[in-house]
Amino acid sequence: MKENVLNTDLTGKVAVVTGAGGVLCSVFSEVLARAGAKVALLDLNLEACQKVADRICQEGGIARAYACNVLDKQQCFQVADAVEDQLGKCDILINGAGGNHPAATTDKEVYEPGDLDGEVKSFFDLDEAGISFVFQLNFLGTLLPTQAFARQMMGRQGCSILNISSMNAYRPLTKIPAYSGAKAAVTNFTQWLAVHFSKEGIRVNAIAPGFFLTHQNAALLFGPDGKPTPRTDKILAATPMGRLGDAEKELAGAILFLLNERAAGFITGVCIPVDGGFSAYSGV
Ligand code: NAD
Repeated sequence: MKENVLNTDLTGKVAVVTGAGGVLCSVFSEVLARAGAKVALLDLNLEACQKVADRICQEGGIARAYACNVLDKQQCFQVADAVEDQLGKCDILINGAGGNHPAATTDKEVYEPGDLDGEVKSFFDLDEAGISFVFQLNFLGTLLPTQAFARQMMGRQGCSILNISSMNAYRPLTKIPAYSGAKAAVTNFTQWLAVHFSKEGIRVNAIAPGFFLTHQNAALLFGPDGKPTPRTDKILAATPMGRLGDAEKELAGAILFLLNERAAGFITGVCIPVDGGFSAYSGV
């Protein structure tokens, strides 16, 4: 019988995940460990990623937690040295640390006459420092760990970088212009890196998650009666498949596919939307 190439086996590989204490990247770290990888979990919040590492080890996997600010180049390099000493050279890097900031978010979806002089935080009130924070975290926070860890991939086979973009890169959601722009930059940087590292055989891809149900956002998406909130209704109406995604199955599947050298060995420079059709739908 022919082999099933989608059975991703990462045994012996060292996978580094930034933002590993967070909602999605903790799931990604566990999925990589179950596929056999030794996982280095990096996060600004050591306690959060230590908990995930402990869970992985209790399940019989190999994992280590590291405190790391992805915006501190020196620290990224120090942690890269520690990972190499303790687990081995990095084969897989997932740049997961990212997010938005309230100071870079407008109160209303659409500008309306009078907002300029009113109480609401309009586009004109957005704070430079907040906008800069969001661009730094998402873009520079992807670039600096790549400088630190891609060095360890040089001259070796089967190495891969995976960035986390967003639906916002295709269709900016209302209120969050900086996050949308910064994630568009992450998608663009993914293409740039893929070309730049092509002769080294390092594949660089991204995923763009749509809307997922997690333990952390369940209360925001559904009311106490279990019914979708008005925002969730809007999300579902804009998602042709009419439901939220399952991170453990559906994001994990996209990640394992892109990291699988046999199945995706000729795929580099792509960003895969995992969104139930959200990015394809015009709304009409
Ligand atoms: P999260 O907020 O739960 O986790 C982010 C983690 O990054 C946190 O543990 C935080 O401590 C860490 N972090 C923040 N700043 C850091 C820094 N400077 N250095 C190191 N670590 C830092 O976020 P999430 O929802 O799990 O999202 C993970 C990634 O996926 C992000 O890039 C996010 O933009 C992207 N994303 C999320 C969704 C979603 O639905 N949650 C959708 C699309 C894209």
